[in-house]
Amino acid sequence: MLNIAFISHDRKKDEMVNFVIAYEYVFQGHTLYSTGTTGSRIMAATSLDIHRFQSGPLGGDQQIGALVAENEMDLIIFLRDPLMAQPHEPDIIALLRLCDVQGIPVATNIATAELLVRALERGDFAWRELTDKYKPGVDEA
Ligand code: PGA
Repeated sequence: MLNIAFISHDRKKDEMVNFVIAYEYVFQGHTLYSTGTTGSRIMAATSLDIHRFQSGPLGGDQQIGALVAENEMDLIIFLRDPLMAQPHEPDIIALLRLCDVQGIPVATNIATAELLVRALERGDFAWRELTDKYKPGVDEA
C-alpha cells in the first residue's frame, strides 16, 4: 500500500477528476491524500476515500511537503496550471524541491501522470515499499 497525493490547480481540476475516475481501480487500496478542494472534487466523483489537507493557497502543499520530507509520500500527481500565476508559488517550488531531495516520483502534467499510473498498475513502485523506505539523496545531504 502506497501513499499517493493529488494536487490540482483550479483550471486543471476537471482534468484531475477525469484522470482519477479513469484510474480509480488503480488508486483503490492505496492511502490517498490531497489538497482541500482537489480532494473534495475527487471524492464527489469517485468512491475513493481521501485524506484532505488544507487548500493549496492555505498551506496544503506544505502539509504534503512535510510527508515528503519524511520520505513518507510515494507518488504525487500535481496537475499545475503553467499559464496562471499562483499566490502560493513559493510553496509549490518548495514541494517540488523536496520531491527532488527525496527522489519521489511526481507528475506535473497529465502525460506524465498517465505514465506513472500505468507504472503503478504494473507494480513498478515496489521499490518504494522496501523496508524502512529507500532514501536516495538524504544521506548525501
Ligand atoms: P486545492 O489546492 O485543491 O484546495 O484547490 C490546490 C491548489 O490550488 O494549489
